[in-house]
Amino acid sequence: MTSTPELALNTNIAAIPAVGDKRAEAFRRLGIRCVADLIRHFPSRYEHIRPLQTIAEIGASVMDQVDVDAQVSVAGTVTATQFIPGRHSRFLATLQDDTGTLLLTWFNSPWMREKLHPEQEVFVQGKIKLHDDHLQIINPRWENCPETIPETKYQERYRPIYPATEELPSSAIESTVIRVLDDALTLLEDHLHEEYRKERALLELSDAYRLIHQPTSELDTEQARYRLAFDELLLLQIGVMLKRRHRRSTLTAPALTHNQAIDDHITARFPFTLTADQRTVIDEIVGDLVTTQPMNRLLQGDVGSGKTVVALYAMLLAVAARQQAALMAPTELLAEQHYASICNQLAGSRVNIQLLTGSLSTAQRNSILDELARGDIDILIGTHALLTETVNFKSLAVAVIDEQHRFGVHQRAALRSKSQDRTTSPHVLVMTATPIPRTLSLTIFGDLDISTIRELPPGRQKIETRHYQHADADEAYQRVEKRIADGEQAYFVVPVIDESGSGLKDVYTHMEKLQQGALKNHRLEVMHGRLSRDERDQIMQRFRDGEIDALIATTVIEVGIDVPNATMMIIEHADRFGLAQLHQLRGRVGRGSKHSICLLIADPATNDGAARVEALLATQDGFEIAEKDLEIRGPGELFGARQSGIAPFMVAQFPRDIQLLQMARRDAAEWIRENPTLKGERDALLKSRLLKTHGHALGLGDVA
Ligand code: ADP
Ligand code: MG
Repeated sequence: MTSTPELALNTNIAAIPAVGDKRAEAFRRLGIRCVADLIRHFPSRYEHIRPLQTIAEIGASVMDQVDVDAQVSVAGTVTATQFIPGRHSRFLATLQDDTGTLLLTWFNSPWMREKLHPEQEVFVQGKIKLHDDHLQIINPRWENCPETIPETKYQERYRPIYPATEELPSSAIESTVIRVLDDALTLLEDHLHEEYRKERALLELSDAYRLIHQPTSELDTEQARYRLAFDELLLLQIGVMLKRRHRRSTLTAPALTHNQAIDDHITARFPFTLTADQRTVIDEIVGDLVTTQPMNRLLQGDVGSGKTVVALYAMLLAVAARQQAALMAPTELLAEQHYASICNQLAGSRVNIQLLTGSLSTAQRNSILDELARGDIDILIGTHALLTETVNFKSLAVAVIDEQHRFGVHQRAALRSKSQDRTTSPHVLVMTATPIPRTLSLTIFGDLDISTIRELPPGRQKIETRHYQHADADEAYQRVEKRIADGEQAYFVVPVIDESGSGLKDVYTHMEKLQQGALKNHRLEVMHGRLSRDERDQIMQRFRDGEIDALIATTVIEVGIDVPNATMMIIEHADRFGLAQLHQLRGRVGRGSKHSICLLIADPATNDGAARVEALLATQDGFEIAEKDLEIRGPGELFGARQSGIAPFMVAQFPRDIQLLQMARRDAAEWIRENPTLKGERDALLKSRLLKTHGHALGLGDVA
């Protein structure tokens, strides 16, 4: 190995000897620009290569099922070869040593005829299989035996397998890592001091980096992972807590008044008794609103659990204090629905409610903005366009954000600047119907307090959920047909809009098929994202009015559509959809008093797909489903992770690392208690790594 003189962690990848311009470009496409990026590009797994063994030893280990995924290394003499031509041609060779024989098979490699002959002595390496009582290695790596075997050549190894691309295979990444790792590690300072590490049995940072790239045992990989995962979790926790502390100590919100008379007045508006859960979360929210510390609270509960009613309570508390409230929805359709239902609930009161959407004329918009600035509007409803600079409230006390998953940390920061000076903030309540698994909410939304509604209002029906194979779909359609004939309505959801050679049912073909088959006497219509907004609104209106019996749709109907007479949800290729999405889709039915059904049509092609269908059949509890989703998918793609702008974890995994997360949380809290602004020599490195990693996403610029 040639050592690289004057290497620095920020040395450009192109400056590493043997990395040419083309390769450097390939590295950049993987997000690797400098040496530090390279050593942070961790292997996704390891290939265990066993030390040189005899064929008999290998045979015994196969029988005992020892480390079945490991690769074996073996040396011997070729005793026979054979070529079997054909479309899937095979080249076979028998390998023999003093203890036995095994079969080597190469597929589609006719050139092997020229390379390998009887009496040749070779080393081979590959995964061992037992095939018809024969030991066999398929497509082994091989080479001729040298005269003397170099000591290190066939040692046991854990070969790192890196996330790679076609132009930049794992082996090329590995050789580049080998080239720089020793030098790079001497430059790597640890941001955790020795005593702290010792107490928690954490490896030193440079050791962790060495072992994650070049482990010599399974234990090495575990220990390296443990340290690096802990670092990720600790940094994020410290960042999130710093942010929270900053908010608490510098921002103030209007303190609202609350008493029995006000409570009576507000609840008199609701035509039902609040559930115990609603009451509890209202108490939590009120506890925040009566202080000058800005509330930053997440309200989670399944579709229809009564979150909006709770939010309305909070908004009315602002109105009672002669302050303003805002409600923001992710789409105009949802904003309009909120507007209609809140106007309805507050009919006859003096509360001034307005809807601000993109479809208003300039004159209408200006008039609303004027009224708002004068303080004449009590509750303003709209999309996140309310966050634009031209929208100015006189005194915004409560801001409600519906469906957090379209809003990230940045939008919440924008809300803060709605106030005249940067030191006041409205109380913020975020509602979500996609429950966040507890574990994840702790990490990513660690700066939010969380209130949860688990219980549904009384009288809600269970949605009967059934699974049909595609071959039995007609049975499902017959069921649907009967109920349509009785006046009920249905949604069919398919994965794609038009046939694209995917072999999946698409909106148009499926509608044709139903129209000519099972549902020929009924009125069908399509619904998807390529229709204009006007077209979609019209179709929805006709569906609501009962002029359409069934919609054949894509997942556009996932959010916010509320038609109580629609009692049937048929999801085609259900295994293709995410679990949270399936749950949301199912939530479109069961909204009235009628018995509702959800029929999943699927022949799951993958284990994950089958697990999702299974989970949906097993429970209707959104929280259980969210936990299951986390288990199946891992947190990377889950709700919030991407939108929050916080990089998903590279090393930490959930639910596997929950305990580590708890440890990181405890430590982070203590850290901030001891050194609230991370000042001083000891925390300087930690602070700079923190700002680099999360400074932007968390807006830590003015904090640390
Ligand atoms: P979410 O916002 O969680 O989807 P909503 O607040 O829109 O739920 O409530 C769903 C439906 O349930 C609404 O029609 C609402 O009027 C009704 N509802 C809410 N709370 C109760 C309750 N405590 N008792 C009966 N019905 C309720
Ligand atoms: Mg709602």
